[in-house]
Amino acid sequence: MSAAARFAAIQTANSRKPRQFQRQQREGRTLSVSELFGQNTFDLARMKQKLPKSVHRRLTAVVREGAPLQPEDAAVVAHAAKEWALENGCTHFTHWFQPMTGATAEKHDAFLDLDDQGNAIERFSGSALIQSEPDASSFPSGGMRSTFEARGYTAWDPSSPMFIREGVNGKTLCIPSAFISYTGEALDKKTPLLRSMQAIDKAANELLAVLGLPASRVTATLGCEQEYFLVDRAYWSLRPDLAIAGRTVCGAPPPKGQSLDDHYFGAISSRVLAFMSEVEQELYKLGVPAKTRHNEVAPGQFELAPIFREANVGVDHNQLIQSVLKTVAVRHDYKVLLHEKPFAGINGSGKHNNWSLSDSEGENWLEPGDDPHDNLRFLAVLASVLLGVFRHGGLLRAAVASHGNDFRLGANEAPPAIMSCFLGGMLTRICDAIVAGDALPQNPQQALLELGVAKLPKVAQDNTDRNRTSPMAFTGNKFEFRAVGSTQNPAWPMTVMNTIVADGMRQICTWAEQDGGGDIGAFSAIRRALTEGGAARFEGDGYSQEWVARAESRGLKNLTKTPEALDELREDAAVKLFSDHGVLSPAELESRFNVLTEQYVTQVGIEVDTATLIADTMILPVALAERARLAQGLSSLLDLASKGVAIEAGPEHDRLTRISTLVQQMTAARAALDVAVAEAGHDPHACARKVGPALEELRAAIDGLEGVVEDEAWPLPKYREMLFVV
Ligand code: ADP
Ligand code: MG
Repeated sequence: MSAAARFAAIQTANSRKPRQFQRQQREGRTLSVSELFGQNTFDLARMKQKLPKSVHRRLTAVVREGAPLQPEDAAVVAHAAKEWALENGCTHFTHWFQPMTGATAEKHDAFLDLDDQGNAIERFSGSALIQSEPDASSFPSGGMRSTFEARGYTAWDPSSPMFIREGVNGKTLCIPSAFISYTGEALDKKTPLLRSMQAIDKAANELLAVLGLPASRVTATLGCEQEYFLVDRAYWSLRPDLAIAGRTVCGAPPPKGQSLDDHYFGAISSRVLAFMSEVEQELYKLGVPAKTRHNEVAPGQFELAPIFREANVGVDHNQLIQSVLKTVAVRHDYKVLLHEKPFAGINGSGKHNNWSLSDSEGENWLEPGDDPHDNLRFLAVLASVLLGVFRHGGLLRAAVASHGNDFRLGANEAPPAIMSCFLGGMLTRICDAIVAGDALPQNPQQALLELGVAKLPKVAQDNTDRNRTSPMAFTGNKFEFRAVGSTQNPAWPMTVMNTIVADGMRQICTWAEQDGGGDIGAFSAIRRALTEGGAARFEGDGYSQEWVARAESRGLKNLTKTPEALDELREDAAVKLFSDHGVLSPAELESRFNVLTEQYVTQVGIEVDTATLIADTMILPVALAERARLAQGLSSLLDLASKGVAIEAGPEHDRLTRISTLVQQMTAARAALDVAVAEAGHDPHACARKVGPALEELRAAIDGLEGVVEDEAWPLPKYREMLFVV
């Protein structure tokens, strides 16, 4: 029977034991986290032991202040990195970069070289450290490069430390890099992020000048809360949809899903905990400060959050987290699902991007302080965020647009597709008072005092006033952008966030000048920004229908599907914004539009193929076999009845009718899907409008059959089996 494999999988999954792994030891003692931390990274601290003082000093300036790197220094660093990598058993090195596919990419080269005599030596030059030339032609460029000039190169990003990746049989030195075409266009996610960080540093310094505060190096900070699901490998291997599309394209709801709310923050099962501990050990070695772990809302769903870092490092950490989750899961006989919506009807996974700004003094700009000037700065950042979200909410939506995330956004479990900000009661009162003109700008210091801005830190510490329905919530000392998808590389949403806030800051600076400069001009500009940007403020229930109507009247966009959201990238305002801040040229922006649209259409196509494969080769044969069996049974019963045996064939009759109806429904939906696919072609809007709903119809029929077909015969692991991981 086709279900034999499924029952074997249930047996296997239920007899697993937690895996014990080798904790790193030294002299018979298990290393503490602080001893283990960063063991596999060549960070500034480790470089200090390996580099001449002067080189280390200049490199620190490169990392901390973005100073240019001298080629002579690169040669010295390359030598030291090679020594360190070889001491630690590396045989290869690779530039590790983030092309527009959204995944990470690497091409390994051995340290091995031959000298003039033909003897094997290990070599690693400064130029190999700084630059590499992978064959770029197979990476998406969104039409920026024609194939005859397909060359691109990767360039070392010294602001993120090199690290060693351990394989079962060898180790590789990974060099975080940007990926650029020979004509200087960004072919990756990292380069625009780094540019956006420069843009915000520049705008923030203009703001400092307006406020009469000393210049500083201002960096965006990022801490990503990563949600994920675990399923047993035995089940995963029997679900082609999970393996190919990353989500189930069918599956009837289990009798118990998340309705009892008993999973969130529940006790972590020992097998899952064993997995999490090993993930953490791997992350610590890579210098990723994994901090929080817990069960999430859905059964089988979990979360991992590291301590925040500079946004570019935070992005690299998130990429490493995703990769380590995947590799370690397999060791524990799990598969990790990073898709935004692996199971219909069950909460999906997001990645909250916690964002703030920090200066060279290490001060958090979203932390209101006691000093009135700090508070003016705090209000200016807040006002910039509001203005940015109001003016460019569509772009922010585009920044999180993906096929997978469409299942989440606006589905009453994740923030709606309308971009707005939640500020909490106290900040709302302050903003309202400023907008209403309760505080006169003649004496901003006094005004802030009267408004109670200085009392904010205490509120920040006790921020119980959370609103889960907001896509962008102020949570005491940072903004939490919650609309980001779980699989997504956070570089792109953070690029957009930095750019729109930089734009808001610049506007405030311009207004401040116009309004007479100084504190008075600044206060007046903040008031103008809070007034205009106030339309992006929303404290209520983001899931409600009422909000959809209200948002529209405020001029906020509600872009429910990816293709509409991506169209925002083609608006003049977007082109201007990204070029004004030097983040993306018009051609680079257009290429992002092309790549993201292409990815969307491709993903829909993959789902269609997976769903039809399952329907045609796994479900329909089983349903037809059962129908035939039932028909035969019914016919023999009726035969007996006709011979005078007192028998009533009602149940058989009902069952046969139910199955027949569902089979008909399924075949009709299957044919309609083919039509929808043919009609939609490569048009992303048509894919969203026609193919999505047609897939849902097919799914409904399959899920109906799952509820009727004999359990003994059903080939696919069911939700109730997969979701309750042990
Ligand atoms: P929550 O209550 O939302 O779970 P946590 O305090 O656990 O919030 O923090 C969630 C994430 O926010 C963590 O990754 C944390 O490091 C990050 N975070 C905290 N402060 C900042 C900041 N100033 N900038 C960016 N991220 C931050
Ligand atoms: Mg959070």
